[in-house]
Amino acid sequence: MDLVALPAFADNYIWMLHDGARAVVVDPGDAAPVLAALDRLQLSLTAILVTHHHPDHVGGLQALRPRLEGQVHGPAREAIPPPFEPHQDGERVDVLGTPFEVIDVPGHTAGHIAYVQRGATPAPLLFCGDTLFSAGCGRLFEGTPAQMLDSLDRLAALPPDTRVCCAHEYTMSNLRFAAAVEPANEALADHARHAQALRDAGQPTLPSTIALERRINPFLRCREPAVIAAAQAQGAAGTDPVAVLAALREWKNRFR
Ligand code: ZN
Ligand code: FE
Repeated sequence: MDLVALPAFADNYIWMLHDGARAVVVDPGDAAPVLAALDRLQLSLTAILVTHHHPDHVGGLQALRPRLEGQVHGPAREAIPPPFEPHQDGERVDVLGTPFEVIDVPGHTAGHIAYVQRGATPAPLLFCGDTLFSAGCGRLFEGTPAQMLDSLDRLAALPPDTRVCCAHEYTMSNLRFAAAVEPANEALADHARHAQALRDAGQPTLPSTIALERRINPFLRCREPAVIAAAQAQGAAGTDPVAVLAALREWKNRFR
C-alpha cells in the first residue's frame, strides 16, 4: 500500500492510500489534485474518508463523486455534503480490503472523527484531520479544552510507531511555539533541524509518528513539569492538564 500526501491550497494535505489500482483519499478539500493523481497513477477511486465538516476538507466532494466507485464516509454528528455513510466511535470502515477504526475526537469541531488502520504495513496509520498536528493541535472552534485533551490522550495512546497523517503542514510554526514552551527539550530542537531540512528540500514533514509527537508536541505533554510551568507562567491555575491545555491553546492563538 502506498501513502501519498497531495498538497492542496496553501498548506493542506489530501492523503491518498493506494494499492496500485485502487485508491482512497482523506479530506479532499479540492478535487483537482486528487483527479490529477488518479490520472497520473492510473487509479480508480474506491472510497473517500472525511474527518470533519470544514470547507478545506469537503470542498472537493461533489466534483469527485462522478469518479467515485464507492462510498463517502464521514462523521455522524456533522453536516457534510450528502450522501455519505455516517460513522461514530468504535465503528469499522472497510476500505481497500482492510478495516479502519473510527475514533471520536471532538475539540476542533464538535463531531470530528479520526480513522486508524492498526494492521497497516509497515506501521499503523492515523488520519486525524485537524485534531493533532505535528508539534501542535487544532484550534478549538466548537469544542472545549477538556474535549481536546481527551481526544489527544486517545490518539497519544495509539501504538508508538503509528504514522500520523495530519491535514496541514503547520509543523515549522508549531515547532517555534513548542520551543517557546519547552526551550530545554532537546528532542524538539533536534526535530526542528530535521523538519527544516525537509521543508528546504520541498518535502512534507509528515507523516509524523505517535512516538515523536509524545516527545515534541506540547499539547500531548500537558502533564510534563516543564510544560505545566510554562502554562502557569501564561496564567494556568494549578496543574490540571485541562487548564494547562487551555492556557497553551490560548497562548498559541496569539503567538507570532
Ligand atoms: Zn478544520
Ligand atoms: Fe483544515
